[in-house]
Amino acid sequence: MMTTNSLPDRQTMYNALLSRDSSFEGIFYVGVKTTGIFCRPSCTAKKPKLENVDFFNSAKNAMLYGYRPCKLCHPLEIKGKFPEWMSALMSEIEKNPSFRIKDYDLAKRGISPHKLRRWFKDNLGMTFQTYLRTLRISQAFGRIKEGDKVIEAAFSSDYDSLSGFNAIFKKTTGFTPNSSKNKNIIQVTRILTPLGPMLAGATEKGICLLEFVDRKMIETQLKRIRKIFKAELIPGKSKYFKELSEQIANYFEGKRKKFDIPLAIDGTNFQMMAWKALLKIPYGKTVSYEHQAKVIDNPKAVRAVAKANGDNRISIIIPCHRVIGKDGSLTGYGGGIWRKQYLLDLEQKKKAAWIYRRLM
Ligand SMILES: [Zn+2]
Repeated sequence: MMTTNSLPDRQTMYNALLSRDSSFEGIFYVGVKTTGIFCRPSCTAKKPKLENVDFFNSAKNAMLYGYRPCKLCHPLEIKGKFPEWMSALMSEIEKNPSFRIKDYDLAKRGISPHKLRRWFKDNLGMTFQTYLRTLRISQAFGRIKEGDKVIEAAFSSDYDSLSGFNAIFKKTTGFTPNSSKNKNIIQVTRILTPLGPMLAGATEKGICLLEFVDRKMIETQLKRIRKIFKAELIPGKSKYFKELSEQIANYFEGKRKKFDIPLAIDGTNFQMMAWKALLKIPYGKTVSYEHQAKVIDNPKAVRAVAKANGDNRISIIIPCHRVIGKDGSLTGYGGGIWRKQYLLDLEQKKKAAWIYRRLM
């Protein structure tokens, strides 16, 4: 675990956990690897072994790492309680996290969307939509114990059993499997980085997805890869994941400047050209969108190039973060400008030129 910088040391937190010390409330949250659940320090549930826990500085972080809130100690609730006006909605979401709640649905329940968004921002440091998305993704790809068994079952015979798998997968995740025409498998896992967890996906041929879990586009990207590769998404172990996490870890330590892992890239001709141009930008260098457009012999397509970069599904490895505005401004980045700044500073060996931001 890399994002524990603002936390007390592990043993102190573990002792607090064992003694259910409520003075540590809000200081740390604990994720239990064996159950996929996260708790407050003072939770009354049976205490896990030290080697089975992950500590987090925020509930948001615990969720992004795939943990689901404990039903005993309700770690998302402030002082153990949601405000009266939102408690019915929250139990509804708990029962059905795949429910896509629009402003209209809130209004129907007599809840002001503005007030709700405000509460999430102030108390959990994330938007209501990010919260819902994170819950859905945790359900689909989180540390779901039963899920692991289901996957084993699906792979123990051949593809025939996938239909049964799909039914269960849909029931537990809300992700609708795409009928029998999808015979391919994309395995999905989390890769941990100093900038937060990323979702990685791999086909038989290589890595097809690497994206920050909290990115708004993530579900759209997941849908796209399913369609492009005619594949089902399944949490699991690809032969590429070990190498990928090692290369990414080395990159963040400043020890790796080039990636050499097979990629599964597919897009329109224009996207393919734009992405190939990205792969040619050397480590530590930046170019402008105008330059990238010229490189692909399409100098007027500056906006289209920016769009193609935004659609890049393999962050960091296909380095869209190395493209910046003509005037040197960072312009946009799907994972957030602060991450783009971090990546460029890392590559250019600038010592924390960016203002350190407590992760998530
Ligand atoms: Zn608990």
